[in-house]
Amino acid sequence: MTRSSFDDALAAAECLHKSHPEVAQFTVWDDAAQFQSLEPHWIPSAKALPLDVGLRDGRELVGYSAFCAPAANARWRSTYKDADIGKEFNQKFGCYQLIGAQGHFFSEILNTYLVYAEKGLFYPWHHHPAEELYVIIAGEAVFEAAGRPARRLGPGDTAFHASNQPHAMTTKDKPVLAYVLWRGDLKTPPVLTPAEQKP
Ligand code: FE
Repeated sequence: MTRSSFDDALAAAECLHKSHPEVAQFTVWDDAAQFQSLEPHWIPSAKALPLDVGLRDGRELVGYSAFCAPAANARWRSTYKDADIGKEFNQKFGCYQLIGAQGHFFSEILNTYLVYAEKGLFYPWHHHPAEELYVIIAGEAVFEAAGRPARRLGPGDTAFHASNQPHAMTTKDKPVLAYVLWRGDLKTPPVLTPAEQKP
């Protein structure tokens, strides 16, 4: 039961990699990614994601259900647990690694995450050395990045963030579910961008 929901999410990811030109261009797919049993880590998103009807507006991508299915058993991250980001952020934001060294499928060449934000959330300006590609799976959000105008993105749209380019994300009246890929320096976690470096 648990394993099959992760297999379904992996299959949805493979489909996305093979059908979405920007994903295919960003990184190669890893046919050798191996399931590894991880202890689940529960956060509020584990319950909220599959129940969030705001994501189901008829525009969601084919893989939407498959990416939600592992939610209850996923190893959700606590990236900003100790950051000065506000209690509400950690109530409304969730991220689990599907593929990668600490992901549900081990890979040394591929690093992908599911990122979920409830409606009405500001994900403050942050940066990281890894290059990043967001693909919206369902819902919508406003993406901002240094040197670029803000854009409202919906299913199928992408946002690319260069190495250490500060970026921020805001959900308004809808939540968002995104498939996120990293490449480059995978060891350095994101940090909040100091006030003097914000655009
Ligand atoms: Fe980022």
